[in-house]
Amino acid sequence: MSASNGTRPLIGVLALQGAFAEHERALEAAGARTRLVRLREDLDELDGLVIPGGESTTMTMLMQRMGLYDSVREAVRGGLPTLGTCAGMIILAERITDGLPDQPGFGILDIAVRRNGYGRQVDSFEADLDLTGDERPFPGVFIRAPIVEDTGSTEVIVRRDGEPVGVRQGSVMALAFHPELSGDLRLHEEFVRLVRKGNN
Ligand code: GLN
Repeated sequence: MSASNGTRPLIGVLALQGAFAEHERALEAAGARTRLVRLREDLDELDGLVIPGGESTTMTMLMQRMGLYDSVREAVRGGLPTLGTCAGMIILAERITDGLPDQPGFGILDIAVRRNGYGRQVDSFEADLDLTGDERPFPGVFIRAPIVEDTGSTEVIVRRDGEPVGVRQGSVMALAFHPELSGDLRLHEEFVRLVRKGNN
């Protein structure tokens, strides 16, 4: 059920842990209204959802503890347009390598990711990324990012030196990096467009 107010869709940002405040600001600047999601009721009437970066194991544990895990997974599975970034990408993935033994994962997005795939030495870095259909490089901020080892049936929408770092499958978008930290709104704008489409 859409709660759109005019043309500003309502996008929830999972706010249990991690980089949620920066997503809120970027989404508002990209034309959405936002709501921090901490309780099951906070999912009601959302037009879209962001699962931010942070630590996928901690975020998973907190979702379970708050009784949110099944509700969030079912909302995404049911077609709620969703953007997962970094830890959020890991949580959405069907196949996780180097996760903790009891790290379940939603198993929704047909990709395989290797958690902390760039290794400990290369903790964080910035790189120019290629957005499909856009000549202008996107400044990518990577923080203990996952490597996408298999893109399955998803569409690759962002590449770094030819390697996939962003994918889309239907109304679910996932990025290995932190678009909310780069000051470039293009990917948030793309997600807001996806949310609008999903609610028409
Ligand atoms: N390495 C983190 C994890 O496993 C992800 C890091 C991030 O979100 N910046 O969840």
